[in-house]
This record gives sequence, structure tokens and C-alpha cells, in this order.
Amino acid sequence: MIELPFSAPAEFIGAVRPPSAPLSSALWFVFRENDLLVSAGGAPQLPVVLHPDALGFEVAHVQYFGRLGAEHCYACDVGASVPAASGWTWRGLRSLYTRLPDAQFALAGRALQLVDWDRSNGFCGRCGTPTSARTTERARECPACGLVAYPRIAPAIMALVRRAPDEILLARSPRFPPGMHSALAGFVEPGESLEQCMQREVLEEVGLEVENVRYFASQPWPFPHSLMVAFTADWKSGEIRVDPLEIESAQWFNVRSLPQLPQPISISRRLIDAVVAAMIAQLD
Ligand SMILES: [Zn+2]
Repeated sequence: MIELPFSAPAEFIGAVRPPSAPLSSALWFVFRENDLLVSAGGAPQLPVVLHPDALGFEVAHVQYFGRLGAEHCYACDVGASVPAASGWTWRGLRSLYTRLPDAQFALAGRALQLVDWDRSNGFCGRCGTPTSARTTERARECPACGLVAYPRIAPAIMALVRRAPDEILLARSPRFPPGMHSALAGFVEPGESLEQCMQREVLEEVGLEVENVRYFASQPWPFPHSLMVAFTADWKSGEIRVDPLEIESAQWFNVRSLPQLPQPISISRRLIDAVVAAMIAQLD
């Protein structure tokens, strides 16, 4: 198993119900929109307090979500324009990768998704009635029509296509920073398996048929609530034909001469690195 940023830390035990015994402190993940509260100056640290009101915050959407080692973990948010307390600052989650301890960084991704889900489900999506939280599981229920809303996870596939002996297919989305190329990716549609999604995305985005589809690994991706599921495949037939609505350019790259790749925070980079290393080992 490949351990990836944002996957659950080994020393974490998830839970919905907070401990019944009173706590002296807890680890708090306090968000202002998508920014996390951390200490200012030096290595960023999360607040370990009984409650963020100790720092002068009025918080909402409080979610207890388990225990990291001995520390109980809470997520919550504050209003969009609330300033940080003295000695604290708001930081984008991505910028904290490798700055926060890995386990805390991973749980910050989970905390952001829980807070965002709670923010977005205060009213029933079917009838508009205010919802209430269930105590036995993480869900919000409509008292009028009974609709239950669980935290939403949107599966997306990632596909790295190889062409023997020494090429991989990389593409550019118009959203990428200049020069960066990555594997193909797309969201799973209702009524298709992950493998079918992968074949469809490759055909739609670059016009190729693939074979030997193999699972690689998966990664929770909290921007805003994806689960990335990565696959490898071999080119079977077709010439690259780019769908200009989704892709700016796509081409075969020699594994010894690659363009700028995504940062190691994402599964796309792990996927590319692993495939390239295996192909180079075959060539040598
Ligand atoms: Zn309803």
C-alpha cells in the first residue's frame, strides 16, 4: 500500500460522538472558508485548547471526528472576514504540506471536508426545511421529508497510459500552471465502473483505446471532496486527438525526458514516478 498525503494517519481513530468525560484540551482545526488557523511565525502549529473561544473566536459547524494519539480532534469554522487572533494566522491548506506534521496535515484535509459538508447541508436539498444532525452517524436529516445527507465523496479516476518501450502520455489542462503536464483525469459518471470511466476518459480526452488496465492506488483529495483513483494502462490503438474543451495539449513523452510534473502532494506525481521508474528499469 502506498501512503499518500491526506490518507488517514495510522495513529488516528475516527469517531462521530465526542468523549463523554470532560476534556482539558483538544486539537482544533479552525477554518475561515478554506484557510486553516495556525500559529504565526516559526513552524506552524494547530491550536490545542479546550475550545476556540479561548482565542476569542465564535465558531460554527463544530464536528468532532476522532482521536489522533491522545488528542481528541474537532473541526469548525468562523465567519468569512474574521481576523486571526494575535499570534495566529490563516493559511491555505496546500501551503501547509510538509510544514505541519504529516498526520495533522492529513486530518486537516478531512476536517475541511467535514466543515464544508456541514456548511452546505443546513437545509434539505429536496424540500428546503432546516436539517438536524444525527447523533449515531455523520449525517444530517430533514425532519419534514426524511432525506438524509451524508458527507459527499466524488470519485475521480486518473489514468497514466504507457506506450512500450519508453513513452507515457501526459496532458495539460488549461487550469495547470505554465509548462506543467500530468496524467489524464476525470470524474466518474452515474452508472459506470471505475474501469469503464477510465476507458471513457482516455477515449474522450485524447481519442485512444487502452488495454491492461491496472489499479495503482487511491488518494482522498479535499479540494473540495474527491477521491482520486489512479490506474495504469497500455496504449492499444489510435492517434492522439485532443478534446479542446478539456485538454489544452497531450503528447507522448520519453520517460527519460519529461516535462514539468505535478507536486509530490498529489497521487498524479506518485503514479508518474512509479511508472517511469519501472519503465526505465526495463530499459536498462
Ligand atoms: Zn426535506
